[in-house]
Amino acid sequence: MRIDVVTLFPEWVSQLEQFGVVGRGLRESRLELACWNPREAADNASGRVDDRPYGGGPGMVMQAPPLAATLERVRAARNDSVPVIMPSPQGAPFDQARAQQLAEGSGFVLVCGRYEGIDQRFVDAYVDMELSVGDVVLSGGELPAMMIIDAVARLLSGVLGDSRSATQDSFMNGLLDHPHYTRPPTFAGRDVPEVLLGGDHARIARWREKQALGATWRRRPDLLARCTLSDEQKALLEAYIAEQADVSGPADGSYD
Ligand code: SAH
Repeated sequence: MRIDVVTLFPEWVSQLEQFGVVGRGLRESRLELACWNPREAADNASGRVDDRPYGGGPGMVMQAPPLAATLERVRAARNDSVPVIMPSPQGAPFDQARAQQLAEGSGFVLVCGRYEGIDQRFVDAYVDMELSVGDVVLSGGELPAMMIIDAVARLLSGVLGDSRSATQDSFMNGLLDHPHYTRPPTFAGRDVPEVLLGGDHARIARWREKQALGATWRRRPDLLARCTLSDEQKALLEAYIAEQADVSGPADGSYD
């Protein structure tokens, strides 16, 4: 897989190469990352790529020509045709299903906006997909781009130390993840659930499945509504709900 990023801050995005499992994946060439600065395609000596908005109003707008010229350079540098993605608060929600879909392809190009955003004519002419990382406005597309790269990269084979990790994460089966515990056995007066210490793997698997169903029921009923549960899962969830009947906790997982 190869990912190209068009950004005014290539040094920042390139830092992905230095940290964590995604950094190792990049260093081991399990995926390739190339950053392109549209300033290098500016038609002026100062490298300016933004201008005031037509119609007036605050802020600046990224100009279409340097972005288009940069995209042509990207296309010339790669010998396949991949989607052009623009992070945008107006885009479709970026979620695990989209990450999995992108992980199956040969890569994509991310175009990061800054200021008020990018001239709409560039978007109309070149952008295949707009993705939002949440109903919140950030100052640029770089963090969303890095989020997208991270989420996709960890799904590629060989990037995570143990490939089973990815398949057991939240959202992969439509549910949230179960809780995790490690040493010490007692912390802040709380013991590790006894079932996890027993070595009965079938019982542990059932307990984890039940906790995953329960967490999703408590915190994200919207996800649960979209799942088709097996009879065994239904029974586990009913047991979880019965056990929780007397426990008052925040239904939405918030703690304030
Ligand atoms: N005026 C725009 C926001 C521009 S923010 C609007 O209100 O829609 C500048 C850039 O940051 C955007 O072009 C986009 O690339 C990025 N960005 C900001 N918030 C984002 C979000 N929630 N998801 C994805 N990208 C975002």
